[in-house]
Amino acid sequence: MHRTHTCGELRISDTEKTVTLSGWVQRSRDLGGMTFVDLHDRYGITQVVFNMEVNSELCEQARKLGREYVVKITGKVSERSNKNPKMNTGDVEIIAGAIEILNVSKTPPFTIEDETDGGEELRMQYRYLDLRRNTIQEKLILRHKLAVATRSYLDKAGFLEIETPYLIKSTPEGARDFVVPSRMNPGEFYALPQSPQTFKQLLMVSGFDRYFQIVRCFRDEDLRADRQPEFTQIDCEMAFVEQEDILNTFEGLTKHLFKEILNTDLPAFQRMDYATAMAKYGSDKPDTRFGMEINDISDLARGKGFQVFDNSEAVLAIVASGCSEYSRRQIDSLTDWVKRPQIGAKGLVYVKYSGEGIVKSSVDKFFEVEELEAWCIACGAKPGDMLLVLSGDLEATQKQIGELRLHMGKELDLRHSNHFAPLWVIDFPLMEYDAEEGRHYAMHHPFTSPKPEDIHKLETATAEVRANAYDLVINGVEIGGGSIRIHDRELQSRIFDLLGFTRQEAQDQFGFLMNAFEYGAPPHGGIAFGFDRLASLFGGSESIRDYIAFPKNNSGRDVMIDAPASIDPEQLKELSLSLNKRED
Ligand code: ASP
Repeated sequence: MHRTHTCGELRISDTEKTVTLSGWVQRSRDLGGMTFVDLHDRYGITQVVFNMEVNSELCEQARKLGREYVVKITGKVSERSNKNPKMNTGDVEIIAGAIEILNVSKTPPFTIEDETDGGEELRMQYRYLDLRRNTIQEKLILRHKLAVATRSYLDKAGFLEIETPYLIKSTPEGARDFVVPSRMNPGEFYALPQSPQTFKQLLMVSGFDRYFQIVRCFRDEDLRADRQPEFTQIDCEMAFVEQEDILNTFEGLTKHLFKEILNTDLPAFQRMDYATAMAKYGSDKPDTRFGMEINDISDLARGKGFQVFDNSEAVLAIVASGCSEYSRRQIDSLTDWVKRPQIGAKGLVYVKYSGEGIVKSSVDKFFEVEELEAWCIACGAKPGDMLLVLSGDLEATQKQIGELRLHMGKELDLRHSNHFAPLWVIDFPLMEYDAEEGRHYAMHHPFTSPKPEDIHKLETATAEVRANAYDLVINGVEIGGGSIRIHDRELQSRIFDLLGFTRQEAQDQFGFLMNAFEYGAPPHGGIAFGFDRLASLFGGSESIRDYIAFPKNNSGRDVMIDAPASIDPEQLKELSLSLNKRED
C-alpha cells in the first residue's frame, strides 16, 4: 500500500498509530542527531523525524534525500514537543520506521513552496512543478469547486449541459478566428469557436429551452494581461424568456456561487443603464465599491474666458475626499498619470476646497473664488476635499476621468478586495460607429435584438438604438454578458444589412441560422460568464493565468511544450498548404 493517510490529514488524535505516507520531500534539515523531513502532497505537509540513536542506517538514508524526491515513509505518529500552529498537521510528527524512495528528482529549478524564488518565465516553462505548489493548487481547487457549484445550480434549474462542436465556421464575437486546415477538403478551413453562440441558438430552435455548457472558446486577439487566446465560459441560453428572466436566473446563480464558495451573501444587484454608467463612472463596467461619481460642470466652467474649457465639449470633475492637503509633488504625479498615452488627457485642473471662501486651484487666474466654490458645492465637495477636473470631447473625457476615478479609488484605498459590488449594466447601444472605417459594428454581436420601441429608428438613427443586452459587472470587472436574440428572419436580415453584409454574404455565413429561424424559432436569449475571470475574482487576484492549469504567456505561447511550432513539410503538403517566406 502506498499510503494510509495523506500529508494533510494527521492530527493529535492519531498519535501512536502506525501510518504510511507518500509524497514529495519539500525540505530536509539535518541537525546532527536528528534529521527532519517535510513531506508534501496536495493535502498539506507532514514532518517526519529520523533519529540517529534509534536507527542510524535509516537516518543516513534520510540525509541523502534530495528536494522533491518521491518517497514512501512508514512510521509512528507522535505528539510534537515543538508544535506549529500554522500547519494543520502541526501538532504531530512521524517517527520514521521505514523509507522507500519511489523516485528521485533532479534539483528543481525553483523552490516548490508558497513563496517561490522562481521567476514567471521559468515557472511557466516548468509549469508542472509550479502546479505542485500549494498556492497554485488551491486556485485550481477553487476553480473546480466553482464548476461543480455551477453545474449543480443550473442542473437544478432545469438546464441541460450539451456539447457543441469545436471545428466550425466563424462565429462573430468581434475577434479574429483561429483556423484549422482540413486535410480532406483541400484549401478549406474550420474555425475554432469564439463562442458557441450560433449553436446554442440552434438548440433553442430544437426545443431544448435551457442549455448550458462550461466550454472553451478561442479568440485570436492581441493579448493583454488578463486575456488568454483560449479561455472558458459558462455559456447559457434560454427560450421563452425576457431580459428580466435571464437577469433573475443569473443573479441567482451568482449569489449561489458566492454563498457556496465564499460564504458571502451578496446584496440585490443594482441595475444601471449604459448611458448612466458612462456619465457617472466613465466606464461600461463601473466599480461601484466606492462613490466618487463624475460631475458635469460644463455649464459652470465654460464661458468665463478660460480657453481650455471654453473649447471643450465637456468639463468633468470628481471629488477626491480629504485630499485638499495634497502636495505639489502628489498633484504633479497625478498630472503625469493622466497624461500617459494610455489615458491621454492633455492636463489636469485641481481645486482644493478648504472651507467657506477658501479655495486654491490651478486655475485661480481665470476664475473668482465664488465661481470655484460653486463648482465644489455643485459636486458635493466638503471642506478638506479636492476636485480633479478634466476637459475635452465628452466621450474621451468620460473615459479618462473614469480611469482617474479608479486610480484615486486605489490610492485612497477604497477598492477592498473582500467587498463585492455586483450590478447589471443594461440598455447598451445596439451598434457602434467606426468613423475610420465608416461603418457600424454590433456592440455585442449581430444576433442581439434591438429594443422593440427603438426598432423604428434602426435605419434613420442607428446610433440611438438600444439593445436588449446586459453585462454582469462585479467590482469593475465584466463577469458576463448576453442579450435577448433576434428570432425573426426579416429583422435579422435588416441587422446584417446595417452591418454592411450583402445579402449573399449574410446567406453564405449565417444562412444556416437564418434558415432555422424559418422553422419555428422561439423567443430566446442568453448569457455567458467568463469562467477564468470569475475564478480569479473569487480568489481575490487580478490575473486569470494562475487559475488556468496550462496558460499561454503574453505572446500567446505555451513555453512548456513550445507551441505554436512549425510543422513538417510532409504535413503541410498533406494539408495542401504552402508557406510563403515572409519578406521582412
Ligand atoms: N456569445 C456571447 C459572448 O461570448 C455571450 C452571449 O451573448 O450569450 O460574449
